[in-house]
Amino acid sequence: MLWKGRRQSDNIEDDRSDSDSGGGGLGGGGGQFRIPIGGRTGGGGSIFLVILVVLAGWYFGFDPSTILGGGDGGLLPGGGGQITDNSGQDSGTAPANDEMKQFVATVLAETEDTWTGIFKSQGLTYEDPKLVLFSGQVRSACGFASAAAGPFYCPGDHKVYLDMTFFQQLDQQFGASGEFARAYVIAHEIGHHVQNLTGIMSKFNQMRQSMGEVEANQMSVRIELQADCFAGVWAHYTGQKGILEQGDIESALNAAKQIGDDTLQKKMQGYVVPESFNHGTSQQRQTWLARGYKSGKLSDCNTLSGPI
Ligand SMILES: [Zn+2]
Repeated sequence: MLWKGRRQSDNIEDDRSDSDSGGGGLGGGGGQFRIPIGGRTGGGGSIFLVILVVLAGWYFGFDPSTILGGGDGGLLPGGGGQITDNSGQDSGTAPANDEMKQFVATVLAETEDTWTGIFKSQGLTYEDPKLVLFSGQVRSACGFASAAAGPFYCPGDHKVYLDMTFFQQLDQQFGASGEFARAYVIAHEIGHHVQNLTGIMSKFNQMRQSMGEVEANQMSVRIELQADCFAGVWAHYTGQKGILEQGDIESALNAAKQIGDDTLQKKMQGYVVPESFNHGTSQQRQTWLARGYKSGKLSDCNTLSGPI
């Protein structure tokens, strides 16, 4: 992606004051298991569940503790006012202008421009979300989150939370390399923001109240695939600007493949549990990302009904 020299968003909150804390990132094996577990099952299989949920959380866009029953609503909109306090932490110890931050700020700016235009064409107003860079752990309106949960979007405070060490993991552990794989991760989270602004997410949360676990997972898959499709729509418009390079789309599609529920489960435990899927299979994720990219139309992103 030819991103250098383009506009960078001001909507970045740099909360990486603990960035020198070493093993707090995704790489630490122990860190993955620090997610609070609310005693959901208590059975012998619960450790698998934790692994699955944490894994899934890498790309969920919401706080895995919610799925585990330990949180109070990572997906719940309008959550309490516990917004991350970044005041006074922005300069000093945080690496202020590193290249990866500039890349993230540029991708965020591109999403702002694209979605502002799309909303405007529908007679709507797009509200820019904030993107919080954190290191190790963070408190959001959706509760406390560890970097092990991966990037996520909190509907309650309209913020995307990202520990950039996830990008290294995406590359080294999941085999999803390339700049545009990273752009896709950001665009997917922004897709959740779009769902929040358009009321799709609150509708999902309402419906979720009366659902059993399996059904809620199925609905979650639909929501996630739509975020993938929205990421594709963004990529479509980004392509029209002439700033995509050869291999960019392939890189995003490969990322979608590597973080599919089935692929992740196979990799981590050797077998798959389809009822537990909540982001979609590799094939589904690639399909919806590609669909959004191909047409650039929101109407092609209706994952909420019909076959997926
Ligand atoms: Zn997601």
